[in-house]
Amino acid sequence: MTALKEEIDREALWQAFSDETLLADLRDFVAKEIRPEADRIDREDYYPTEIVRKLSRAGYTNYLIEKEYGGSGGTYADAASIFEEIAVASAAVGISLITIFQAQTMLRKYGEESLKKKWLPKFGEGLLASYALTEANHGSDIRTLDTKAWRDGDDWIIDGEKHFITSGSAAEFYITLAETDAGVTVFAVPGDAPGVSIYDGENSATFGLRNGPHMNVVYDKVRLPADHMVGTEGKGVRQAATVLNHSRTLAGAISNGVSRAAYEDALAFARDRRAFDSRVLEFQGIQWYFSEMLTEIDSARLLVFRAASALDEDHQVIRWGSEAKLKAGEVATQVAVKAAQICGAYGITENAPFSRYLRDAKAYEVAGGSNEILKNTIGKFLMPVAGIEKKKPK
Ligand SMILES: Cc1cc2nc3c(=O)[nH]c(=O)nc-3n(C[C@H](O)[C@H](O)[C@H](O)COP(=O)(O)OP(=O)(O)OC[C@H]3O[C@@H](n4cnc5c(N)ncnc54)[C@H](O)[C@@H]3O)c2cc1C
Repeated sequence: MTALKEEIDREALWQAFSDETLLADLRDFVAKEIRPEADRIDREDYYPTEIVRKLSRAGYTNYLIEKEYGGSGGTYADAASIFEEIAVASAAVGISLITIFQAQTMLRKYGEESLKKKWLPKFGEGLLASYALTEANHGSDIRTLDTKAWRDGDDWIIDGEKHFITSGSAAEFYITLAETDAGVTVFAVPGDAPGVSIYDGENSATFGLRNGPHMNVVYDKVRLPADHMVGTEGKGVRQAATVLNHSRTLAGAISNGVSRAAYEDALAFARDRRAFDSRVLEFQGIQWYFSEMLTEIDSARLLVFRAASALDEDHQVIRWGSEAKLKAGEVATQVAVKAAQICGAYGITENAPFSRYLRDAKAYEVAGGSNEILKNTIGKFLMPVAGIEKKKPK
């Protein structure tokens, strides 16, 4: 299957939105380091530490970090291409990078200088990180939390437990939320701080986006220096939402990578499989599936790259990012289903990759902002547009 897929003219199929040199180097890396491992990562559900460290050495995990902190100071448009190319091979590797990106974005946007100087350069050295918001009783709604934090002299003490934490089995650093007297607040927690532990909870194993169990993270009266409170006390929900609004575009890029992979595999199969003295691809009904899927994938890709430009321009980030993730997530699930259908019985076998594509695509319709929450967010954008609220949309 893989060999057949290599014959597809991908460059004709998928418009490039970034510099060809960047993409060529990355595609070589993906073909050599990620694609051969993708199926095993999914089946065995482990964090791909070696691959992520290699991606880091190649400069992909700190691509957006400013040069003064050791990064490349790259654009979101290029970052979207990077996430998409990686996810064509493995969405699990893609989401491993997303949690790193979320943690560093919180520091870049809201961290004190001392915190940025301490932690941001470490991302260039392969620091693995998680973005730990969700709790057993607080998922979409994080306006109140069971994890608490309080002052002890100059330090902070944080106490509680987080659930569903992606990359939690390997993380060396967490960005997390806890409630203080002023409200929900962001904290940076080193993984080796006394009192931090992880365990594989009852619901940690998911059927999609399997980069290791989505761990429970326990903070047992963990002591943190004053500058590890990130941003403004009590403004944690807004800060967390801002970071999510940035990562949603890249999550959309991952979903598009899954769509592309499913499309290419089905196209290779339909070209080579024969029925009724004809190639399956020559049946008009099958061509229509491919035409519809291509139109949908193109729409989702254009939206993601529009959203990435919005991030680079700092204009209408919330609207474009939400639309991009919503569209790309829905398209990936639909494409994975149709691609399996086109491949007949082979499409349903465990040997075929369509189960992984479908499970990854579906999981991303919940993780990082469910479809329903994205629609609510787009709905909020409409209020000032319709003149109901005065505040200008950002
Ligand atoms: C694969 C995966 C990885 C994850 N990784 C992380 C991670 O790294 N860090 C982290 O903090 N969390 C993570 N999560 C948790 C994820 O963020 C939550 O699952 C998500 O926020 C939804 O919360 P919930 O599951 O508690 O659903 P609930 O909040 O209980 O919602 C249940 C349903 O109701 C809908 N709903 C809720 N509120 C509204 C509303 N106002 N209007 C309309 N519909 C609504 C939801 O969309 C959902 O369909 C992950 C989840 C998955 C599946």
